[in-house]
Amino acid sequence: MEVSPGDLGAWMTERGHRPYHARQVFRWVFERRAESFGGMSDVPMRLREELESAWTVFSTTVATHQVAPDGTDKLLLECSDGRRVECVLMAEQDRRTVCISTQVGCGMGCVFCASGLRGVERNLTRGEIVEQVVRLRNLLPPEERLTNLVVMGMGESLANLDNLIPALDWICSPGGLGMGQRRVTISTVGLPEKMRKLAAMDRSYNLAVSLHAPTEALRDRLVPINAKVGLRAVVDAADEYFRRSGRRVTFEYVMLGGINDGLAEARELADLLEAKKAHANLIPYNPVPGLPFERPTAEAVRRFEGVLKARRLSVSVRKTKGREIDAACGQLRRRSEDGREVAMGRSTARVGSSPDS
Ligand code: SF4
Repeated sequence: MEVSPGDLGAWMTERGHRPYHARQVFRWVFERRAESFGGMSDVPMRLREELESAWTVFSTTVATHQVAPDGTDKLLLECSDGRRVECVLMAEQDRRTVCISTQVGCGMGCVFCASGLRGVERNLTRGEIVEQVVRLRNLLPPEERLTNLVVMGMGESLANLDNLIPALDWICSPGGLGMGQRRVTISTVGLPEKMRKLAAMDRSYNLAVSLHAPTEALRDRLVPINAKVGLRAVVDAADEYFRRSGRRVTFEYVMLGGINDGLAEARELADLLEAKKAHANLIPYNPVPGLPFERPTAEAVRRFEGVLKARRLSVSVRKTKGREIDAACGQLRRRSEDGREVAMGRSTARVGSSPDS
């Protein structure tokens, strides 16, 4: 997955093979779910052997596969350099949604998030992003297809725009999985410059902006990058994304018990979003062991939602999937790495927190 069909075709040509075999190889991977070259029966045997000795279909390996009682699958993938990323497959009625990561760790430092506890280590490559989707798709029964893709796992998506967009474009192309761009949602903490760059790319991907607070002061506390970019600039860039793409922007709001889930915050959020063609998605916090934030009460969520609805805003409350398997972003990786570090005789106690992404 680290090479494009064009690059693989050039490699084949150098060795005296017809370059069109590259398209066959990728068809096997994307359409027929092949995970090795051996069974690609319409590719010449000699070429298959050369492929086996020079390449692997996937550059990652599956370090952990957890399945929650509700059917949610979570994979922890190990990259060729030993770093680990996580991705999730959720099944709901007729939807099959994958949630993927874009970075190892995250540099945004949201105070409630497990992914940001150790900062960012590196961007994922285009191939590592595509592989998460293909590996999760391969868990589905043969008759099922992925219906939705959300880029809401570890990392700040737009900080890795240069690899993310080619990866998504490949997934959405007829030579990839052929997903519709409108079935893909890119989540961002809100980097105005990158949001404008994405808007200028003329794609139809949906944008979800992680707001988490309706005022500059509260957002500065919860989302430290806000002190540099400012809530107003984030909302303005979201407006521009809507103007240019025609796609309604979703504003994500992780509800932290007793911190941003009161009626005052609900009214301030309504003021901020009023008159916009936008959607608010409320996400009751999924507690992370060791982090000092709590899930809001069901009553607090209901009242908060009620305020937004009374102002005629489009609003939903996200259902939590896979709580039993560390489905808050960064938890599975953190637990895995804590295990490795404990085994090496080091203590890893930390304080921070995580949204339910
Ligand atoms: S919530 Fe998202 S942007 Fe914030 S630290 Fe976690 S992964 Fe990064």
